[in-house]
Amino acid sequence: MKKEKKLYEGKAKIIYATNDKNLVIQYFKDDATAFNNQKKSIIEGKGVLNNRISEHILSNLSQIGIKNHLVKRLNMREQIIKLVEIIPIEFIIRNVATGSITKRLGIEDGTVLKEPLIEYCLKDDKLGDPLISEEHILAFDWASKTEIDNVKKMILRINDFMIGMFRGVGIKLIDFKLEFGRIKIDGKNEVILADEISPDTCRLWDSITEKKLDKDRFRKDLGDLIPAYTEVAKRLGILHEQSNITAVNVTNLSSVKRKKK
Ligand code: 5GP
Repeated sequence: MKKEKKLYEGKAKIIYATNDKNLVIQYFKDDATAFNNQKKSIIEGKGVLNNRISEHILSNLSQIGIKNHLVKRLNMREQIIKLVEIIPIEFIIRNVATGSITKRLGIEDGTVLKEPLIEYCLKDDKLGDPLISEEHILAFDWASKTEIDNVKKMILRINDFMIGMFRGVGIKLIDFKLEFGRIKIDGKNEVILADEISPDTCRLWDSITEKKLDKDRFRKDLGDLIPAYTEVAKRLGILHEQSNITAVNVTNLSSVKRKKK
């Protein structure tokens, strides 16, 4: 596999073409952004952790039949993924109300929802990813009814699986964001899960202390983002318990592991 020219650079990732037209390389950057790019920082080691955590979650989802774009992790910062046509919608799934919904609807922070809530936002940074309804998606033809129905089914299975996976390691899955993309598989058009799933895209609270183990540490200036992401990786069994991780250690540990293979 040969890495070719840069196709796209986003806030947290870069996509490179390869010599296979169906595959691209996804590079995880250390950049952290929030509030529609108004707050920016570089947090050394974040990309390495997100690469590993996302690989773990997407591989597990494959095993329960959720088709997704991950082919394999290449190294500490890169994955080979299938090239998809991204549906221009951010799918937000909430189990507990926090973040934007509490402000928008005046709901008390931490309210447990009676059932998972799916919200749709148009993927458009210039407009600040506005909340839209399913009717908007159909009216503007951003996705078809069949696509939306399939995505909703996948979302509920992904949510069930991830709630269980995190509960098993003492973490509450509060909410998260998913993206999906179109692809032709064996001549058939399909919609598969794309993008990353990591503490950048999920809210994860310790089950007992409710300590935030996700990007809210950056958004709310809580500090210690790398120790929190490392804690998530350790609990999921991706990093060894004894590893005393700092940003620099994460980098070292991953390169040591790679050399051993
Ligand atoms: P909220 O709407 O409360 O800001 O976010 C809900 C959930 O979706 C949170 O887990 C948040 O991390 C995720 N989310 C929403 N929009 C984005 C986005 O543009 N980028 C990332 N990384 N996560 C997002």
